[in-house]
Amino acid sequence: MIIYPETITGSRNVTADVCIIGSGSAGSVMAMEMAEAGLDVVVLEEGGHYSGADLNQDERDMLAALYRQRYTKDLNIALTQAVCLGGGPLINMADCVRTPDPVLAMWGKKFGIPDISPDRMHPYFEKAEEILNAAAITDDQLNPNNLMVKTGAEKLGYSGENFVNNRVDCIGCGFCLLGCTYGRKQSTILNYLPRALEAGASIYVSTRADRIEQKDGRAYRVVATVIDPKTKKERAPIEVTASVIMLAANTVNTPQILQASGIADGSGLVGKNLLLQPHTMVSAFFDEDLKSYRGIPQSYACTRFEDADEDRGLSGFRIEGGFTLPGQVSTIIPGFGPELKALMTRYNKMANVMVLVYDEPAGEVSVNRHGRPVITYSLSEPVKARMITAMKEAARIFFAAGAKQVMFTYEVPTIIDDVSKISIVDERGIQPNTLTLMSFHMQGTCRMGPNPASSVVNPYLESHDVKNLFIVDASVTPSTAASHNMLPIMAMAHRTADYILTNRTRYFG
Ligand SMILES: Cc1cc2nc3c(=O)[nH]c(=O)nc-3n(C[C@H](O)[C@H](O)[C@H](O)COP(=O)(O)OP(=O)(O)OC[C@H]3O[C@@H](n4cnc5c(N)ncnc54)[C@H](O)[C@@H]3O)c2cc1C
Ligand code: SF4
Repeated sequence: MIIYPETITGSRNVTADVCIIGSGSAGSVMAMEMAEAGLDVVVLEEGGHYSGADLNQDERDMLAALYRQRYTKDLNIALTQAVCLGGGPLINMADCVRTPDPVLAMWGKKFGIPDISPDRMHPYFEKAEEILNAAAITDDQLNPNNLMVKTGAEKLGYSGENFVNNRVDCIGCGFCLLGCTYGRKQSTILNYLPRALEAGASIYVSTRADRIEQKDGRAYRVVATVIDPKTKKERAPIEVTASVIMLAANTVNTPQILQASGIADGSGLVGKNLLLQPHTMVSAFFDEDLKSYRGIPQSYACTRFEDADEDRGLSGFRIEGGFTLPGQVSTIIPGFGPELKALMTRYNKMANVMVLVYDEPAGEVSVNRHGRPVITYSLSEPVKARMITAMKEAARIFFAAGAKQVMFTYEVPTIIDDVSKISIVDERGIQPNTLTLMSFHMQGTCRMGPNPASSVVNPYLESHDVKNLFIVDASVTPSTAASHNMLPIMAMAHRTADYILTNRTRYFG
């Protein structure tokens, strides 16, 4: 049953076997796995419930309803997250990417994680892919934007691939980032969460978990607040007492909740080791009307410059076709007023790529005196160098595909009309607050590992310090898990569910 805020008029005390905080990639898997195992499951989800026609394709409504944008303290990088029932999978690009085998091997070898070899993990990836209906995008599904990237990459002899995605019978409307009105994107509100509900789970929407209490060294109770979705005012307190508590609130909110609770930080590493996979956008203008906003927005990636090996994990960068809607584009590209308007009048002729740079841990999430997250992150010199090379390669690809101009998202409009001019990126460099930088795949703030001194959770994602407290979201990865992390998180959650259910009597008596 989904419990809506309107139905809650006073304080509530609820008991359950399992309380899950967050209903995104990780929370959805856990809700289904635990409920289908016959356990009494309560999910607390801060965001509201949107599906079908609620997803009205109007950026003004949907960005406000489904998104949360935060910035690093120096305002250099924008971090984008979902805040809605279903979390990231409801609003994401539907790219299904596995953790590469060398990364899994590295987690075993370098970080001492057992049971994480490719052979052990493949069945969990397969399970998630099956439930999400994942399949490769076919060439005839590439929209003009992505086709331009493919054409340019192929002309230059660069390798690339169509994404695997979780869409079925997609009609190519192009609104994926605002949620799929037509139910074609197979986000978890169409599969995992209905299965959890069918098995008896209770999901409280518009309900924010504030802190976790422990008793006798065990996680014991979640203290939460029901929020009025219209006014955002606090409506009623709610407490959930549970045998097992699972944090699935994403890389920023999970350490925030732990720090607000003052628990599980014996290592001093809660909030540390933040990975952002910094992105920037490079745009191109063509002579013809591409109407890049139609069709699947992201379907092709140039993979020539990424590498995965068992010692370093993922390195290099990717250049991915990726278009978005006019409101979002206008906040990313340079210029204000008439200048911006002039660029936006060329929206029909525009193609975009997202440049995604792999990073090492370089930041942290702490909380300020109001309990709100403060995100600090420094772009390392190697990441800056990779970003510069990536932007130049993106320009090369677009010019090879026939672009008339390429635009970088510097604060000062930077548009070039010939590939010979790409060195302008070397001149501009990556100075603070001069280039649009974004993050969509935050990871690492509660890393897993066998040693309580150097990790927050154990290899099966249970807190080293607080029994029966699991952290199951993107925060647990010790290095970047993949170029896109929905599937890696889901596979890890399936693995942890297996572990808990195998040891069921230890957790549920
Ligand atoms: C625009 C965008 C596009 C993306 N595209 C892709 C893609 O194509 N492929 C891919 O693999 N990845 C993609 N990602 C990334 C991916 O979706 C996320 O990394 C992933 O969903 C993170 O999973 P999670 O379980 O850690 O958290 P989330 O999926 O973010 O779920 C966390 C949930 O917890 C809730 N929550 C937070 N705090 C609280 C609280 N205090 N109380 C209760 N609930 C709370 C949030 O509302 C949210 O629903 C994209 C992300 C974005 C933002
Ligand atoms: S492009 Fe396909 S998956 Fe995306 S919103 Fe439209 S119908 Fe849904």
